[in-house]
Amino acid sequence: MLMQTDAPRAPADPVARRRTFAIISHPDAGKTTLTEKLLLFGGAIQLAGEVKAKRNRVSTRSDWMGIEKERGISVVTSVMTFEYGDCVFNLLDTPGHEDFSEDTYRTLTAVDSAVMVIDAAKGIEARTRKLFEVCRLRDIPIVTFVNKLDRESRDPFDLLDEIEKTLALDVAPVTWPIGRGRSFAGTYDLLRRRVRRLDAADDAGTVPVSGLDDPLFDTLLPEAGDAATWREEAELAEGGCKPFDLEAFREGHLTPVFFGSALRNFGVRDLIDGLAEVAPPPRGQDADIRAVSPTEPKMTGFVFKIQANMDPNHRDRIAFMRVCSGKLSRGMKARLVRTGKPISLSAPQFFFAQDRAIADEAYAGDVVGIPNHGTLRIGDTLTEGEELVFRGVPSFAPEILRRIKLTDAMKAKKLREALQQMAEEGVVQLFLPQDGSGAIVGVVGALQLDVLKERLQAEYGLPIDYEPTRFTICRWIEAEDQAELDKFIGSHGSSMASDLDGAPVFMATTGFSLRYEEERAPAIRFTDVKDYQ
Ligand code: GDP
Repeated sequence: MLMQTDAPRAPADPVARRRTFAIISHPDAGKTTLTEKLLLFGGAIQLAGEVKAKRNRVSTRSDWMGIEKERGISVVTSVMTFEYGDCVFNLLDTPGHEDFSEDTYRTLTAVDSAVMVIDAAKGIEARTRKLFEVCRLRDIPIVTFVNKLDRESRDPFDLLDEIEKTLALDVAPVTWPIGRGRSFAGTYDLLRRRVRRLDAADDAGTVPVSGLDDPLFDTLLPEAGDAATWREEAELAEGGCKPFDLEAFREGHLTPVFFGSALRNFGVRDLIDGLAEVAPPPRGQDADIRAVSPTEPKMTGFVFKIQANMDPNHRDRIAFMRVCSGKLSRGMKARLVRTGKPISLSAPQFFFAQDRAIADEAYAGDVVGIPNHGTLRIGDTLTEGEELVFRGVPSFAPEILRRIKLTDAMKAKKLREALQQMAEEGVVQLFLPQDGSGAIVGVVGALQLDVLKERLQAEYGLPIDYEPTRFTICRWIEAEDQAELDKFIGSHGSSMASDLDGAPVFMATTGFSLRYEEERAPAIRFTDVKDYQ
């Protein structure tokens, strides 16, 4: 029965035991803290010890970049793999700052479920909502963790109501908080009738109770009247809320809700048990010619992220690939569908918090790092020979366009190479104007510009500045009829550029001029999202 077993038991089947997920939240809700706690719970003993030892570094685990240290933001998406119970968890971390949302959206294409962390005092915040919408587009099931119950919080019913109303998502509380803020004493497991006490060491055991009338609640809520009020509330939660429904959850219509405090490491075990039990194993993935099932014997996967120069001493470049089917074995040869060329997977890597290790084998749902020297790009599909391409790693039309000004003209060639690298990595988008004028970079958020500038300096010794361009908007253009497309491109030469893949991009000076062109050229489709191919 769902959420009823004591210890999560997943089958030994390597695919069925995988849980690949991300945490979505508004900055400050507690994602980093929860990540640390999940790793402590889930990690192998050695891993847990290590995270503890490097505690101060964990929150800046991607501290290879100065800008992250300076501003206390996390820019880089990373992957953490850990085992817990019978499951292998792949937690895909996403940058917290909204200026890096493109990276986050791409990462969400590689997960099967998400944990939505909500600050109990604040409820649903802007960024949570936005990320939730992205999950909904892909029908990604959501498990909710209401965090910071140890602080003054809003009424739990209020919070559940808000989730239901603002996200149009049914809620099924699994645990219920006993007290809040200073009186927070633990959680009551609504299904199993057990109490997890805040004062129990390490979020360890639970205490069975006879029901809501159990005298334990009077002990936990000693202030006069508190226990009585709480009982009424819990009765309402027990009787009035929707029961957990696996199908509705898996379809993305209902979220199980856990309450806790990541900082106090409380309620995290219930959350991870819940993930083991109900979060879906790797899903099938749509490719251009057919759907790919995770249990197919042949290996397939797609690259959703590239990260270069993680270690500035070694010019390494890692492509993060989600395995979609079959078994990836170290040393195997795969086919890079975009070029048709073989690629040898001689040193695929797994990531564990701070560490990496060579992966001897990986299965659907796993994310492996593939070191390469520029062969792999975001959106690339690898197979064991089949000519198929996974869809849906998106690129968004940038909202800020800037021309690059190089202070040392002698380094123009080096700059072109570096920009190409950065664009392939997804740090910025690169547009080469058809009129031969200097490269234009496009970003969704302004901080990306700072990152580019800092990295060009630090990794390539290229000092640059930005100059405004007259363009403020760009759109990819397509047409059924190639002749129409060519005609449009021909007559708009000074506003045309090509992107990294050579796809035509129309650049407009204002929203007004874009609309004007759209109206005048009905045969042309102007799009602001493009799938990587
Ligand atoms: P992120 O921006 O979502 O990654 O949030 P962090 O994990 O960095 O947490 C933001 C702040 O909230 C930090 O100061 C944390 O110590 C604090 N915090 C996180 N979880 C809790 C919690 O359960 N209770 C309390 N009181 N503070 C918390």
